[in-house]
Amino acid sequence: MSADVTASIIAVQEDIVRLRLADPEKGRLMKNEVVYIRPAREPQQRLKAEVLRVMGAEADAQVYESTVGIGLGDGVEQTGLLLSVRLGPGLLGQVYDGLQNPLEALAQGHGVFLPKGVAAPGLDPQARWAFSATRKVGERVRAGDTLGTVPEGPILHKIMVPFDLDEDWTVDWIREGSMTVDEPAARLKAPNGAVRTVTLAQPWPVRRALPRRLLDKGYSTRLYPSEPMVTTQRIIDAFFPVVQGGAACIPGPFGAGKTVLLNLIARHSDVDVVVLVACGERAGEVVETITDFPRLKDPKTGRSLMDRTIIICNTSSMPVASREASIYTGITLCEYYRQMGLRTLMIADSSSRWAQAMRETSGRLEEIPGEEAFPAYLDSAIKGVYERAGVLKTNDGSVGAFTLIGAVSPAGGNFEEPVTQSTLAAVKCFLGLSYDRAYKRFYPAIDPLTSWSRYRKQIDSWVTEHMGADWSARIDEMIDLLNRGEDIHRMEQVAGEDGVSLEDFAVMEAAKFLDMVFLQQDAFDAVDSSMSLERQKQLFDRVYAIVTSRYRFADKEAARNFFTRMTGLFKNLNYAAPESPDFERFAGEIDALSTSVPVT
Ligand code: ADP
Ligand code: MG
Repeated sequence: MSADVTASIIAVQEDIVRLRLADPEKGRLMKNEVVYIRPAREPQQRLKAEVLRVMGAEADAQVYESTVGIGLGDGVEQTGLLLSVRLGPGLLGQVYDGLQNPLEALAQGHGVFLPKGVAAPGLDPQARWAFSATRKVGERVRAGDTLGTVPEGPILHKIMVPFDLDEDWTVDWIREGSMTVDEPAARLKAPNGAVRTVTLAQPWPVRRALPRRLLDKGYSTRLYPSEPMVTTQRIIDAFFPVVQGGAACIPGPFGAGKTVLLNLIARHSDVDVVVLVACGERAGEVVETITDFPRLKDPKTGRSLMDRTIIICNTSSMPVASREASIYTGITLCEYYRQMGLRTLMIADSSSRWAQAMRETSGRLEEIPGEEAFPAYLDSAIKGVYERAGVLKTNDGSVGAFTLIGAVSPAGGNFEEPVTQSTLAAVKCFLGLSYDRAYKRFYPAIDPLTSWSRYRKQIDSWVTEHMGADWSARIDEMIDLLNRGEDIHRMEQVAGEDGVSLEDFAVMEAAKFLDMVFLQQDAFDAVDSSMSLERQKQLFDRVYAIVTSRYRFADKEAARNFFTRMTGLFKNLNYAAPESPDFERFAGEIDALSTSVPVT
């Protein structure tokens, strides 16, 4: 592909260049258009850039590469296309940079990034896929309708009518069998005679919601999220649930356990496709994720976890513009698989780095800064990102979901800063990690006293059906217990143990016990690291019975001993495989210990 040079560079400032059309009569520049810079000094290079701001015949563009070597007068090719990804079979299992260049070299642990100006196809042009058609010649189809399927790893990948088509089209020609993503699979005809060739792949501009037109036309419809996305992490599922199609954030100071928790969620959540966006965190961490994931098995299918995962990585050592784009690339991939009726999950670690990339670019454009020098549109940009999550009824009536969880890493753990605040306004679930809990090694360090999930109400009928009619009230009761425990603990710190009544002391011990054996969960134990909802309910019932029993302890020492022993037994229970002899034994010991204390 060698487009014509239609503009040239007139200024360079870090990764922002200003360009001017050679002949403003003949063409125009478009916001978010992709252009390629041809450095005169390096004729073999084509450096990708995106137009951010158009001022008549001039425009500012951000360059997705180092701008070292770009000079005044260098030629610029226009593509007329918006920054896009290529959608089709072969995305699963890939490790990409923010612009969908596969980073195979990196994935193999070489730690080598693509050399400058080199782009690789997002979908392997050689790979062949077995296409089965589900439509026949003469049938009418609309944007987003399924034409056929190809098996891709653990899923059946739907090949859909291009999402940008208007009106009803007729299948003019369709074939089956083995083909690459570039070979024609079908041909569609419009009422006005226009013809469109369909391949297994199609492009989509990442900054535009993929189902936008389908929703406008009523081909797909948005549904209200009503089912939980089970993460197998007890404190989340039972206390602060995330829903299929929901938006949640995990703010926390450096080292509080965001990445460990997000990886657990990516591994164990009840979804079909996971997109992990490692955005601007240290390269070492990203390499760890990339080498870890392929080795891990999906507990449900026994396949490599990588088979259902796409990793997009932009470490702090990669260009800032590509970091900003990576979030949108990830979202678009999730929207695509959602359109097939699948449950998708995107994890952004961390959205703060993305916001910082936005701030840097905005600063270079000399835009009017808002709070802490973030651009004034920070709020709407964050909202725009989380809004793309949701549940959709797709064209063929199947239901797909796209859930988005973002880590936020505010400097010094100060949640009052703009990125955390804007994010809190955009999500319905806040899992706040506390430095104190992480310091005490209370993992996951989600603070039960400050976290919240507005989804609890939204999944009420699901919860009533699956967890019992009184589940929600009992959870409230437990949150109340944790608060009372904390109040008593504070009082004790002032007044000393003698200043606390025996009754209050027992409440404080009970709250601590609930925290230790239910809220905390061992990420590194094969059994405890992931707990099914069914087992969570069983455990909750047991814990609830203990903390609501009105034990008559002889004194504080007796109360403390009781809860210490109980905590030990429950931890062992949590480590025991379900229905194993160990499990039965610990359950028996728990019952015996419980009945050894008289109740009032
Ligand atoms: P963050 O991403 O918030 O900066 P990390 O997730 O990298 O923090 O966690 C930092 C360290 O804390 C980890 O390397 C690990 O030692 C410890 N840690 C975090 N979460 C857990 C956990 N669930 N169980 C045990 N250790 C943990
Ligand atoms: Mg981290």
